[in-house]
Amino acid sequence: MTTAPTATVQGQATRAVHGTTLKDAHGAPHMPIYNTTTFAFENTAALLDVVDGRTPGALYTRYGMNPSVFALEQTLASIETAEACWAFCSGMAAEMAVFAEYGRDGIVCIGDAYGGTLELLASQLPLLGINTTFILGSELEKLDGFLAGGARLVFFETPTNPTLEILDIRAIAATAQAHGALVAVDNTFASPVNQRPLEVGADLVIYSATKYLGGHSDITAGVVLGRSELITPLWSWRKNLGTTITPETASLLARSLRTLLVRVTHQNKSAQAVAEAMEAHPRISRVLYPGLPSHPGHDLAKELMQGFGGILTIEIGGDAAAASAVADKLKIFALAPSLGGAESLATQPSTTTHHGLTVQERLHRGISDSMIRLSIGLEDPADLIDDLTQALG
Ligand code: PLP
Repeated sequence: MTTAPTATVQGQATRAVHGTTLKDAHGAPHMPIYNTTTFAFENTAALLDVVDGRTPGALYTRYGMNPSVFALEQTLASIETAEACWAFCSGMAAEMAVFAEYGRDGIVCIGDAYGGTLELLASQLPLLGINTTFILGSELEKLDGFLAGGARLVFFETPTNPTLEILDIRAIAATAQAHGALVAVDNTFASPVNQRPLEVGADLVIYSATKYLGGHSDITAGVVLGRSELITPLWSWRKNLGTTITPETASLLARSLRTLLVRVTHQNKSAQAVAEAMEAHPRISRVLYPGLPSHPGHDLAKELMQGFGGILTIEIGGDAAAASAVADKLKIFALAPSLGGAESLATQPSTTTHHGLTVQERLHRGISDSMIRLSIGLEDPADLIDDLTQALG
């Protein structure tokens, strides 16, 4: 079990740099890549001490018992102020472990979610007897009934993908707690810099570390954090499904975490500037960004979040083709799914993340075909606004 060093009074930026107490034998400033699958012992007694959990130590990399993975998990737990953390080979793998362990009596999924998550919940998990009820963020009054009916896991993203709806983690957690159910929040869009769900009542927080935590569009990884007693059972799922993060990726991710606060703080500011410029543009019919007073979740976001994040969605007056025409003219923004990297990306949810849903399902979720989701990177915001303006021109 990888746990945070101690609850610490240091700031989050300091913890992102110094969040692990683990050091290598040679004084390396951060944990090197232990590119090895197995670890040798002096004798059988020493081996059994690690196997039986009496002594912490490396053993076998697929088990996550590798120094590069331990150091990463300790840093992640420290940044999130979580008791415990496991790192996975992808965000989907992290979600799967949570659903497999805690979703067996039924899951309630609230609001929009990443298309792959919706597909897993709606199509694959029922084959294993894990069933999900989907409700919109505007139907929270139904939650009580579904939990009374036996569902034991509430799952949601906030802000949601791609409409940036803000869900009240505190209120949902209170309802779930009254029924003895757990709340798992996919905090990928916010990152731990902008929102820490565990501090406001959630039981588990999940990340696609492929996004802001990785931050450079060069790794695929996932993370689950929470109390030790909830995180411990996920270990066997990760071990036996073989969904552990690799040491190479763990090391890259740990390196990225050192700049997490600098990156996300910059992206917050730039996204605010781009959102304000887009809101003033005559060709844009709607801008969805929690930092805008016009956003329906603005006041709630001010209460729950430390920053409004680097993602915004613009709606072009017209149809999908009109939006594609604008997206195709962008020069700095790359036309690509994903988010959270150094480079700005533009994507039409109807052609990528939510392509697997029918038009009706998309509309039910408030996703129109003329939406373009923008992930704001680390470029100069003025250049991003110029790029959007020329594409809209
Ligand atoms: N959660 C969110 C909010 C996502 O956007 C994604 C991927 O886009 C995932 C989870 C899945 O993560 P991964 O691609 O790392 O498996």
